[in-house]
Amino acid sequence: MQKVTDIQKLARKNVLGLRPYASARDEFTADGREMVFLDANENPFDTGVNRYPDPQQRFLKTILARLKGVRPAQLLLGNGSDEVLDLIYRAFCEPGTDNVLTLPPTYGMYKVLADVNAVENREVLLTPDFEPDVEQVLKLADDHSKLLFLCSPNNPTGNSFSRGHIRTLLEGFQGLVVLDEAYIDFSEEESWLSELNAWPNLIVIQTLSKAYGMAGIRLGICYASEAIIALLNKIKPPYNVNALTQERAAQRIAAQQEVRKEVRLLVEERKKLERELVRIPCVEAVFPSDANFILARMDDAGKRYHQLQQLGIVVRNRSGQPRCENTLRLTVGRPEENEKLLHALKSL
Ligand SMILES: *Cc1c(COP(=O)(O)O)cnc(C)c1O
Repeated sequence: MQKVTDIQKLARKNVLGLRPYASARDEFTADGREMVFLDANENPFDTGVNRYPDPQQRFLKTILARLKGVRPAQLLLGNGSDEVLDLIYRAFCEPGTDNVLTLPPTYGMYKVLADVNAVENREVLLTPDFEPDVEQVLKLADDHSKLLFLCSPNNPTGNSFSRGHIRTLLEGFQGLVVLDEAYIDFSEEESWLSELNAWPNLIVIQTLSKAYGMAGIRLGICYASEAIIALLNKIKPPYNVNALTQERAAQRIAAQQEVRKEVRLLVEERKKLERELVRIPCVEAVFPSDANFILARMDDAGKRYHQLQQLGIVVRNRSGQPRCENTLRLTVGRPEENEKLLHALKSL
């Protein structure tokens, strides 16, 4: 059965009426002639970055679309996933009226952005094995539930959600399902991008911050139907992805072999860490991970966190999150860094 989603009905009314910002340079199409640009009050002397960047990031979208098997019009790029997520809130959630659903323990930004945008955040805890509680989610959703955030592989638990659960939520939830695949390149699971055309209510988020090793340039990627992307384009700041980011991102995406080599190495290192960690006395449990980090239950997470810091190693204490009592989240580093972590933990 084909899912029907009326994007116009889900969108905020004021957004529907907006028209995307058009710069003077949007109105002209290059035809190979040498042009004189006197339209944007730029400094004409060449610094490499004296011109405004392409607001539609056409070159970058073309290569990303080809790599991912989607159309460029199914892409929106942002200043990190965080900007992309904020745009989604602002396009669909009426402050003070609409609500979103999030499934803790999960990525903190979904809730931060709900608070910033004055949108009610309805929380449904993951089950003890860190899967979505599908029945509860669908029960708690109502006519004002615009967004459901799923993070798979999930941060901080590291596991991927079962495809069956994600499918049931896509079928049953009447708003948009935002599937955050920040860690998908480390995962054994296939991305849901291949199903984008089958689900008009699916938004997939990816980033260059993790597997691509480019957290510093800030590039988040949103994949969705052309109708959803067109709506987000209406509210996107025109120059939200700067010229240096567009350039470095394109170079890195072209270096697929290198990216894949690093990802393979990090996955190997993760497996090694998983094997070693379970043998360390202060580690009580290691949760299976599909990402580039490991959640470990400790005997006393607070104490071990401080001890590691004394030894020059910074990890993340996730004990404050529900179902994560006494846990540390350990990012997989370079081999020598992981050795140092293991050595330090063994010494405690
Ligand atoms: C790290 C991370 C991101 C990346 O955010 P950026 O703003 O693109 O750096 C997104 N989602 C999750 C779940 C993450 O852990």
